[in-house]
Amino acid sequence: MAEVSAFAGSYAEARDKFLRAARRAGAKHAAFRHPHERGPAGEPLYLDLAVLGPGDAARIFAVGSGTHGIEGYCGSAAQCAWLRGRPRLPKDTAVVFLHAQNPWGFAHKTRTTEENVDLNRNFVDFSHPLPANPGYLELHPHIAAPSWDEQSIEAIFATLDAFRERVGEKAFSDAFNGGQYTHPDGIFFGGARPQWANTAFRAAVETHLGRARQVTYLDLHTGIGPWCGHVYLCFHPEGSAARERARAWWGARAVNLEGVTHAKLATYNGTIIDAFAEVLPAAETTCIVVEFGTLPRREMQRASMAQRWLRFEGARDPVHAARVRREYEAAFYPADPQWRRAVLEQSRDFIDRGVRGISSC
Ligand SMILES: [Zn+2]
Repeated sequence: MAEVSAFAGSYAEARDKFLRAARRAGAKHAAFRHPHERGPAGEPLYLDLAVLGPGDAARIFAVGSGTHGIEGYCGSAAQCAWLRGRPRLPKDTAVVFLHAQNPWGFAHKTRTTEENVDLNRNFVDFSHPLPANPGYLELHPHIAAPSWDEQSIEAIFATLDAFRERVGEKAFSDAFNGGQYTHPDGIFFGGARPQWANTAFRAAVETHLGRARQVTYLDLHTGIGPWCGHVYLCFHPEGSAARERARAWWGARAVNLEGVTHAKLATYNGTIIDAFAEVLPAAETTCIVVEFGTLPRREMQRASMAQRWLRFEGARDPVHAARVRREYEAAFYPADPQWRRAVLEQSRDFIDRGVRGISSC
């Protein structure tokens, strides 16, 4: 039975478990420290890397956790448990784990960065005009309601449902969670500048993966897909070599959106997997997102909006905020041991498959 002790209750505990597991597995460690920010207990924040295998390997299989802060508790446990499993690597292959890619959000148990930025919309070119999201402009005044009780939540969903009826599922997803660059106090805000976590990630990838010729990056998330299951989100175009590699290693479900609980996925801008490939122009890259399912889509939409309320309005009503916070945390980091065991069993399998897959390239 998979070992649920890999899961942590705080960022500091998760980091400690990760670093111990990495050390015991014989991995080399590198860290990028956040220069200004700290966790809620004053703890320093880091993007940590564990490099297992030769640092100059031609093939590198990389796994990232915590792009969306709080989702990192699940990803960190998956990384930690895999390292504890005494992994043996194929020849000329290394495994690199990037731990807490948005450490501020991880430590503060929220999806976003210290500037309320969704890191997975932040990798855009800020020297160019930023992507417009007219649908979000229309929705924002409703989403940014000052109160968060069942009545106001119902009113928000009535507006969202009417909007979706009018524009269709795809335009709704684009508006709601495709990302927006106009409202710093909104949801899925892509930022007005690169976040520290953005520049640290780029530097880490360039420094530690820049010499490999074949690189795979698997970014771990929670919140899309069925309870106790996982889904793959592959954004490589139909017919591309990268998409075919994903299909060969993880099966048809890696590319056919099997189990995805969104009626239509948004077109995302500025994602971390795009940045990963950009930083390594000379390598053949395969990038894939794995999401562990938690609650149904509507509950996750509710959680996204609750996060905004907590951040910008919650201080005025601390008793209610504590209740909303518990609900929010459970949506991205379920405590159910069965769910946690499922994460470890499944992640061990798909990481193993990825390592085997890349070693055959
Ligand atoms: Zn996520």
